[in-house]
Amino acid sequence: MAYPFSRVTRQEFAAIRARAKAKAARKAEKRAENAALSQEGTQEARGGARKRQKARSRKALVKAADAAFSLHIRARDAEPFGGRCSLCQQAPIEDCAHLISRGKHSVRWDPRNAMGQCRGCNLRHEYHPQYYTAWWIKRHGEEAYQALVRDSNQIAKYSRADLEEIIAKFNGRKSDSEKA
Ligand SMILES: [Zn+2]
Repeated sequence: MAYPFSRVTRQEFAAIRARAKAKAARKAEKRAENAALSQEGTQEARGGARKRQKARSRKALVKAADAAFSLHIRARDAEPFGGRCSLCQQAPIEDCAHLISRGKHSVRWDPRNAMGQCRGCNLRHEYHPQYYTAWWIKRHGEEAYQALVRDSNQIAKYSRADLEEIIAKFNGRKSDSEKA
């Protein structure tokens, strides 16, 4: 049976799955390496472990900021769409879907750049960004879209304090400015 063209194809799913598998393998390798190092009692190994600890906790801050932002966005969008995906308005909200990739750090935690969506719509966006993009422009306007794109191309560096601030901001209640 032929799928409608907008669905993610079998090959695209296979590619997504392969990438996830490779990522898991890399993680397992790193874990094994860390375990081996932590068993060596030398000063050098301990220094290395300390360095990794620091890197991990920064990573943990980013992870916590992502989680707080995701909850915030999904809660924000549960109201206008009755808990349903903003795009298809059928399936329930499962994801905080970014319009512009999270790799663009300057808009990674920008509420303009995210929307509560179902998993299917979020997955489709990677290969067929035109649907979400068209929806967004129809809702917010071409000018706002150009502003968002411009902002996404800014270089953003976050200190640990910045990340803590982002976490606190999105863990709090919905800001008044966003209710409008
Ligand atoms: Zn959807």
